[in-house]
Amino acid sequence: MPERITLQQLDDHYDLIVIGGGITGAGIFREAARRGVRVLLVEAADFASGTSSASSKLVHGGLRYLKNGDWRLTLESVRERQRLLREAAGLVEPLPFLMPIHRDRRPGRWLMQIGLRIYDAMAGARRSFWLSAQQAVAREPVLRAGTLRGAMLYEDASTDDARLVLRLLLAGIADGGVAVNYVSAEPVSDSERVRGVRLRDDERGAVREIAARLVINATGAWADRLANAPPGAPTLRPLRGSHLVFASRSLPLAHAVTWLHPHDGRPIFAHPWEGAVVYGTTDLDHDDELSSPRITAAEIDYLMVGLKAQFPDLSLRAGDALSSYAGVRPVVAGGHDDPSRESRESAMWAAPGLIGITGGKLTTFRVTANQVLQTAAAELPQLLQGRGDGPLFETGMAPDRLGGRYGAAATEIRAMPAVLQTTLADTPYRLAELIWSLRHEAIVHLDDLLLRRTRIGLVAANGGVDLLPLLAEPACVALGWSETRWRQECERYRALWQQRHAPPAS
Ligand SMILES: Cc1cc2nc3c(=O)[nH]c(=O)nc-3n(C[C@H](O)[C@H](O)[C@H](O)COP(=O)(O)OP(=O)(O)OC[C@H]3O[C@@H](n4cnc5c(N)ncnc54)[C@H](O)[C@@H]3O)c2cc1C
Repeated sequence: MPERITLQQLDDHYDLIVIGGGITGAGIFREAARRGVRVLLVEAADFASGTSSASSKLVHGGLRYLKNGDWRLTLESVRERQRLLREAAGLVEPLPFLMPIHRDRRPGRWLMQIGLRIYDAMAGARRSFWLSAQQAVAREPVLRAGTLRGAMLYEDASTDDARLVLRLLLAGIADGGVAVNYVSAEPVSDSERVRGVRLRDDERGAVREIAARLVINATGAWADRLANAPPGAPTLRPLRGSHLVFASRSLPLAHAVTWLHPHDGRPIFAHPWEGAVVYGTTDLDHDDELSSPRITAAEIDYLMVGLKAQFPDLSLRAGDALSSYAGVRPVVAGGHDDPSRESRESAMWAAPGLIGITGGKLTTFRVTANQVLQTAAAELPQLLQGRGDGPLFETGMAPDRLGGRYGAAATEIRAMPAVLQTTLADTPYRLAELIWSLRHEAIVHLDDLLLRRTRIGLVAANGGVDLLPLLAEPACVALGWSETRWRQECERYRALWQQRHAPPAS
């Protein structure tokens, strides 16, 4: 990604303008750019700073959707999971799940076994097996309990959600697309149709109108609030989901473990991620503003009751968490009392010159992008030409952590001096990665680097503030920051982390 682009550097006209730099917008951008369309993506804050950095990090079929009768969504998701495992190896990785079955609790073994057989059939391969209590405990000692009958072993996948967005954007840019962060957009129309967007860069005090043949509203939970958008968006029911992140020494897990919450029977799970363990989640109406959701005291209590039910011997307290995070699901209101029964399908609508898309899942972003572009082809026939449904990223990359996260740039990162290659604190991140990111990934604020380009803010103790002295020089050199700017960025980061990510007791 080149340096941050100013509004003046943009062209007067694009074929397609995508508003929203989450997974939905990034997926559309990537697929449009590879088809040779002149595409601009505009994100009001940082790329992936909305829901797409606050998911459960699973690339999954969604057993829960199967239970709700959403067969099509499950099948589509299972197929996409398999494809992402192949095409984004190192970034989307297999995640073995254990579902402990206890004598005195739901779910029962047979019901789960039937569900998982259907799941396997959808993926075209058997990946679920019954383990005896002894086998389950041999794999995951923290499951030891007198009531344990055994466990179902099955496979899904996990990812770094924000990094997946970034890679899609980088792939789209490599194919000629332009993506800008910290610029908000609203559609501009005449009496007939949407003709383009009005862009506002508040930090640099710039405003500019840009014309487009077609505008796409991919603003997720904001989709029905986009200023000046023609009517047509479905009513959204923003549903908050929150997570706690524990150090793996506090919650030592080699597999993902899933079980039902004792209060409401909702599936909850804990899984190893970026050297730590993510545990969640909740599913509640979110009545607050959308930009800075945070976990509430009631959600912390709910999650801790669930954790104690499965791992009573660990005596974990909420204050033992490294961090917390919350995100808002862009769910279309379907009128169910129970939020968890609302469908997770995406919804698309159109007005002259504009297509809107919202809802859906991280896992199925490619399917969503292709559906949008099929509709867009009525206005932009060149979308039917060019390189269509090819592999997601450039091929030939090492299918390891760095290759998956940085694509071809992994070679550059590996070639940096050895002293930059040791991992920072208890995290999987090398200083070399951070330096490359600072130079090439449109970083505007320190939190872009610590919360989204890397996830140090979630998985390091105290949000990684102990690492700040190490980052001062590389950041100032790469971004041209003065000492004063560096101090301001550190203050901004500390305040933001305290407000949105500090563990409950602090
Ligand atoms: C708690 C939780 C757990 C989840 N877990 C999973 C999971 O494990 N697996 C899975 O597949 N899915 C999961 N999901 C669903 C998935 O995360 C979302 O469906 C997906 O991230 C939505 O992406 P999006 O791009 O539509 O929205 P967002 O990521 O929110 O992107 C929309 C963007 O639009 C920007 N924007 C808004 N207004 C403007 C404007 N005027 N101009 C410019 N930009 C604007 C916003 O800043 C935002 O960045 C989960 C969701 C939640 C909340």
